[in-house]
Amino acid sequence: MPTLYVVATPIGNLEDLSNRARRVLGSVDLVLCEDTRVTGKLLSALGIRASMQALHQHSTSARHARYIELLREGKNLALVSDAGTPNISDPGGRFIADAISALGDDLKVAPIPGVSALTAALSISAFPADVFTFLGFPPHKKGRKSFFDRLERIEHTIVFYESVHRAQKALAELVRVMPSRQLLLARELTKLHETLYRGTPAEVTAVLEADTIKGEFVFVIAPKKL
Ligand code: SAM
Repeated sequence: MPTLYVVATPIGNLEDLSNRARRVLGSVDLVLCEDTRVTGKLLSALGIRASMQALHQHSTSARHARYIELLREGKNLALVSDAGTPNISDPGGRFIADAISALGDDLKVAPIPGVSALTAALSISAFPADVFTFLGFPPHKKGRKSFFDRLERIEHTIVFYESVHRAQKALAELVRVMPSRQLLLARELTKLHETLYRGTPAEVTAVLEADTIKGEFVFVIAPKKL
């Protein structure tokens, strides 16, 4: 039966790629990736030669249909995103849904699990993670204020992603809506400049302002009652 492998890739440190992921990426007929240049670099660093085609959030249904046809012919495909786990604030879900609805029981969809910035940050947060809310990225403009207003009403651990351009603005919103809640701001996880900032939003802001604001960030907010 053809298999669509959904493969997690490293978010910084190449050693985090599992042996199974390496084997699958090296053995499938085609790797579907968000950006062939990004995945091309990963594959060449790993010494893997593979055919690649793009599959991203703007991919059309016609493109999906082409890849589904390959699966129908019995080809095995791997789906990756630029970094981390596909479909976690990344493309993937829509294509997987289309493939399942086209091929049903004639398709095997198999996860090759591994790194996600979400679980990496939660794992070191020291906050309870048996129950948590993951909110992806805050909206850029419309709905941004209500996104942050809503956070205050969530009693358990909260995780969200933010780009480098908006990390400071997000902190300012947290100072406004939850000044006394504890926070972990995880920067550049698994990379050379990995840095963890812990404290209240105001404390983290003060330290971050003295630091270089570069890189990728995950916000983890402690439950209301720790
Ligand atoms: N699917 C990916 C995953 O499973 O981690 C997330 C993709 S999302 C488009 C990219 C966001 O993830 C970044 O803006 C940042 O918030 C977070 N992120 C990715 N890599 C990171 C890293 N090494 N350190 C901290 N945050 C990271």
